[in-house]
Amino acid sequence: MATKQKGSSNGVKQVEAPANGAPQLEIRNPVTQELIGYVPIHNAEEVRAAAERARAAQPAWEARSAKERAYMLRCWGDLLWQKRAELMRIIRSETGKNETGAFLEVYGVHTAALWLYHNAPRILRPQNRMPLIPVIQRAKVYFKPHGVVGCITPWNYPLYNGFIDLIPALVAGNSIVVKPSELSPFTTQFCVDLMVQAGIPKEVVQMVTGDGSTGAAVIDNVDYVSFTGSTATGRKVAERAAKRLIQYTLELGGKDPMIVLEDANLELAASGTIRSALENSGQACVSTERVYVTAPIYDKYIERLMFYARQIKIGAGDGFDVDMGSMTHEREVKRVEAHIKDAVEKGAELVYGGQRRPDLGPLFIEPTILTGVTHDMDVMREETFGPVIAIMKVKDADEAVRMANDSEYGLSGAIFTRNLARGEQLARMLRNGDIGINRTYAVAGSHALPWGGRKESGLGRRGGPEGLLRYVQPQSILIDTTIGAIPGLTLLDTLTFNTLLVLRVLRRYIPFL
Ligand code: NDP
Repeated sequence: MATKQKGSSNGVKQVEAPANGAPQLEIRNPVTQELIGYVPIHNAEEVRAAAERARAAQPAWEARSAKERAYMLRCWGDLLWQKRAELMRIIRSETGKNETGAFLEVYGVHTAALWLYHNAPRILRPQNRMPLIPVIQRAKVYFKPHGVVGCITPWNYPLYNGFIDLIPALVAGNSIVVKPSELSPFTTQFCVDLMVQAGIPKEVVQMVTGDGSTGAAVIDNVDYVSFTGSTATGRKVAERAAKRLIQYTLELGGKDPMIVLEDANLELAASGTIRSALENSGQACVSTERVYVTAPIYDKYIERLMFYARQIKIGAGDGFDVDMGSMTHEREVKRVEAHIKDAVEKGAELVYGGQRRPDLGPLFIEPTILTGVTHDMDVMREETFGPVIAIMKVKDADEAVRMANDSEYGLSGAIFTRNLARGEQLARMLRNGDIGINRTYAVAGSHALPWGGRKESGLGRRGGPEGLLRYVQPQSILIDTTIGAIPGLTLLDTLTFNTLLVLRVLRRYIPFL
């Protein structure tokens, strides 16, 4: 990397502008607007060089056992945990989020590393499979890494959304080129530096910084792309990856519904709505954005929701008692304001919040509750990505499911009901990647579960065995012992022909054959 380095093994972090006038990004604290530092805008040539370094380092990394790689990642997770105070400060300085949010990022990634440590070696172990002709032949499937994986990550959870994709790719034997969002590179930098301290060879994880053009160059130079970000950018990523015929996963936006049925525990449903919609000031792909409440309990639900909303403590202060921090970027606040304005102009009622709080910082906005919304309002159609709860009264569960499915997105969702069996039945009717019953954020932190979107919310899954196996290509190897083999010029010599006929009959009755 061309620029001067300070305090970083990777050469990215800088506290002073480069003297040579190289293109750079200024990173600012969204709450104080203070300058945190500079990072270079790596051009296509620099990204190519980073990918080449990663490619050269990959075979030796792959040659280690999955157990050893997973152990190194567990050591790295332990380091994250030890240094969590410093790491949480960095996350908060880049995003403006509260202390709880920063803590949960560290906790989530640390426990993901532990899950991989315990499970990845088993999942990646070569498997014996049934060959065409049992006994005489043996068949095995090996799981081979793609090579170099490009991880393009967003700013809303700079640790969690970056590293729960990155670490399984490493455990699977790939090397990495990671490109964090231009708003939050220093969290990634800190964690990549800790990987070197944990014993992971420096060249195996390459970090590049910059804007969308740097992200595009990553796609041009890697063998697999893991992207987390907006649906609009995800589409560009897919097109670019398709040109090179490389695989990718896309974790994109959401417009997540919550259904509150008449038999719900209203205290849990109302407080759960607040918790889910306001986490990270609503800047979460899996946050609740639409709420469908059945008519019999509608008024009572709104009353309880307002009760909890009034207790929300907003601010930039430290401590786990601050419920909501700042938003991260002016363009995000502007979109939230535009959605509120559009809804009110089309007849919705703003029953709580909706104003900026400049007394707390430039990007604070109050928790906002809108009622009487309809599906022709932006707030029910487009991703708001802010602390806005839009609530619609519905006749019954059927109408709730129909409305919840009336969306281009299909990421996460929630149903509140005391009838767990009915809840599960309704959940299966929702076209979303995951559903929590009496729980929001169903999959975050449950590392055995696959997580990802349907429809425009994404392609592929992170988490669980599915999230690990996307980073490998199965390779089948068939070994013929040559017992009884005779040279032949056609596929069907007499012996093979008769053997296959016998096997056909046996295979009608013996499932594992
Ligand atoms: P963006 O889509 O703008 O950016 C995501 C990443 O892609 C950033 O690193 C960005 O770089 C990079 N990028 C931008 N343009 C290109 C390009 N042409 N080619 C390759 N990479 C590019 O999303 P945000 O960072 O603004 O994140 C917010 C959005 O992400 C929301 O819509 C949210 O719902 C979604 N999201 C989805 C998640 C999920 O798990 N499904 C999780 C978190 C967020 P740069 O920042 O430098 O422009």
